[in-house]
This record gives sequence, C-alpha cells and structure tokens, in this order.
Amino acid sequence: MSLLELSGVRASYGRRTALHAVDLRMAAHETVCVLGPSGSGKSTLLRVVAGLTAPDGGTVRLDGRDQAGVPPHRRGVGLMFQDHQLFPQRDVGGNIAFGLRMHRVPAAEAERRVAELLELVGLPGAQRRPVSGLSGGEQQRVALARALAPRPRLLMLDEPLGQLDRDLRERLAVELRQLFRRLGTTVLAVTHDQGEAFALADRVLVMREGRVAQTGSPLEVWQRP
Ligand code: ADP
Ligand code: ADP
Repeated sequence: MSLLELSGVRASYGRRTALHAVDLRMAAHETVCVLGPSGSGKSTLLRVVAGLTAPDGGTVRLDGRDQAGVPPHRRGVGLMFQDHQLFPQRDVGGNIAFGLRMHRVPAAEAERRVAELLELVGLPGAQRRPVSGLSGGEQQRVALARALAPRPRLLMLDEPLGQLDRDLRERLAVELRQLFRRLGTTVLAVTHDQGEAFALADRVLVMREGRVAQTGSPLEVWQRP
C-alpha cells in the first residue's frame, strides 16, 4: 500500500485553478522532489496534503485513509517552509520541543528526542544556544529538527535550503539524504533547484501549470539548464 496517494486532486483559489487532476503515489521511505517553475502548483500540492488547503475534487489518502475533513495536526505530517521562522524567544531546544507538548510527549522523552535530533543534524549539545546566534545553515538544521521531532510519517519540505548559498545547499542536501535514509523518513520536498533535487531525491516529479508533466528517477528527468 502507498503511504501517500493522491487521485484526481483539483484545487483552486477563487477562479484560478492551481492543481488539475493530480495523481501521485509515494511508497514508505521514498524521497520525492517536486520541481517546476514558479506558479506551477508545487506549494499548493504540499498544502493539500497537509490539510491547509481543501481540494475541490479528488482524494488524498495517507496509509490508505481518506483525509477529507482530517485537520492538519491529525494527519501525522511534518512541514518545513522556506521562511522557517524559528521562535526567537526560545532557545534551540525549546524550538525543537515546541509542539511535542501538544502531542502529549512527556518532558523526559521530549528532552531525549531533542538531544538525539541535535546529534543527527550535526549540532550536538546546542540545546541552550539562543537561535539569534545561529548561522543560516544552523537555523535550517534546527527548523528541520523541529519538523522531525513529532516523528511524522511524512515530512514535507518547501524550499528547505532556499536561503542558503549554493555550496552549502548542495552539501546539506547530501547530508539530508543520508539522514532520511537512516531515519527511514518519507519525504516530499519542493524545490526549484535541480541540483538540490538531484542530490536529495529517489524520484523527481516535474509540475507544469498545475499538472504533473513528468516523473521518474533524477537521471530520467534530467533537463539541461
Ligand atoms: P508554486 O509553489 O509552484 O510557485 P503555487 O502552488 O504557489 O505554485 O501556485 C499555483 C497557482 O495558484 C499560481 O497560479 C498562483 O498564482 C496561484 N495561487 C497560489 N496561492 C494563491 C493565493 N493565496 N491566492 C490566489 N492565487 C494563488
Ligand atoms: P510550553 O510552551 O507549554 O512552556 P515548551 O514548548 O516550553 O512548553 O515545552 C514542551 C516540552 O519540551 C516540555 O516537555 C519541555 O520539558 C520540553 N522542553 C522545553 N524546552 C526544552 C529544551 N530547551 N530542551 C529540551 N526539552 C525542552
């Protein structure tokens, strides 16, 4: 069974159609990157899966269950946006643990998870550091740890490395791929950067004008810049 299955999903903003009958299946542990020009529907696709935008038609299933009417916090999906907005008044640990209380994770377990995630993202022992003192790359690692903390069955990333310079971006993409492999996380990531997508993805999906124009392995979908 697919972890995620979209069939015939349509979505619009007023009269503007953002998604036309999109079909997508993702297996557990797969990393899929969505590429496509600005306005092609990439963010809307994530929003529909997350439950932030209701589709006009079609179905979204997670683990086989229709998600119609299921609110975002009950879908078991994690989200990380480009402008990841860490909470400036909380320290690194407080940012990562934020949200675990809502999931009724006990304090001792929350602290254990925070420590483990900081190791995984390459910031061991950073719990008490103020987020204001972090570099851009460190902030993105903290935002990623925060998205992973509730152990989402599906992690969705919208331009996760968009704020970083090219070198750091490609280096982090390779590290992330290894991290997701190790954790067995299923990832749906949006990017407009082909290099980043190819460093991260098992499979690439190209969107054009609200439709899936192409899907395949990074090599199959390779387009010359
Ligand atoms: P992408 O993420 O690929 O840039 P989006 O999903 O953001 O694409 O947008 C798809 C289409 O929906 C575009 O035509 C865009 O202008 C439109 N759109 C996106 N968000 C809104 C909104 N909040 N209100 C109106 N139109 C929107
Ligand atoms: P609240 O906003 O209700 O004060 P927090 O988000 O501060 O809740 O805390 C949620 C959970 O995360 C608590 O169980 C707490 O023990 C844990 N936690 C808070 N800050 C940290 C931190 N810096 N490092 C590790 N765990 C933390």
